[in-house]
Amino acid sequence: LARYAYVDGRYTPHDAASVHVEDRGFQFADGVYEVVSIIGGRMIDMQGHIDRLERSLDALDMAAPLSRPVLTMIMRELIARNRVDEGIIYLQVTRGVAPRDHKFPTGIKPTLVMTTKRVDFRNQKRLSEGVKVITIPDIRWARCDIKAISLLANCMGKTQASGAGAYEAWQVDAEGRITEGTSSNVWILTRDNKLKTRMLGPEILRGVTRDSLIRIAREEGIEVVEEAFTVEEARECREAFVTSATSFLTPVVQIDDTVVGNGVPGSLSCRLQRWYLDYSSGLRETA
Ligand code: PMP
Repeated sequence: LARYAYVDGRYTPHDAASVHVEDRGFQFADGVYEVVSIIGGRMIDMQGHIDRLERSLDALDMAAPLSRPVLTMIMRELIARNRVDEGIIYLQVTRGVAPRDHKFPTGIKPTLVMTTKRVDFRNQKRLSEGVKVITIPDIRWARCDIKAISLLANCMGKTQASGAGAYEAWQVDAEGRITEGTSSNVWILTRDNKLKTRMLGPEILRGVTRDSLIRIAREEGIEVVEEAFTVEEARECREAFVTSATSFLTPVVQIDDTVVGNGVPGSLSCRLQRWYLDYSSGLRETA
């Protein structure tokens, strides 16, 4: 089956797809991206992802490569061409190609790239069994709210997690409070039964899955407290999980050497996961 990538106006065979060596994405990581999950051929939370793409572009004074309707049309076309029933679509916008100079150039055309990948999300063992995480210092920059392609610190953290047999690394700020995972938002159910996730700010990415889950939880009458929490609070929690477009709601059963609860996914986590999976398969309406 032919697999295509979309590169600057063309659908190109995936293996042959490339961008220029002086693309600012390649030279400076001067670009932003989105990852949207696909279930049953349908994009989950597409509006939320496009909204965030626009916020990231604005924050970096970058022009949108295309209008919103055209962008979504191309996303749908690539998904259809590649016959992705379940998987992800990756979208990246860089400032474009220009002679290497740190200063943002003006008057250049942004580069737009899209690829897809098939992933069998719902049969992943980690959704039912949960995962282990480690904690590491957050060494990233001060604008983690921008979904920039400069992910070196995140890559280092994820590699460290993998080396420790863990799925994710939770990053910790200078005050000992957890910011977020290297590619996910972090949630805990505290000793006193508060469902907590860190408040928005420049220290974290505003996860689209986080937004949807907050909405779903509140519809179910579950209060969500958007507040920072320390590693100690997390180690003593009743339940923990991470959210992202590709991991949905993945329960966490071990934090460093500390087993969470009974070492199996907690009951609130399982309920929230069920509601979120129903929502993402189109079986549940939300506001
Ligand atoms: N934080 C970071 C650093 C991420 O890379 C991601 C994944 N994009 C998230 C949080 C979760 O965001 P979303 O739910 O939109 O995938």
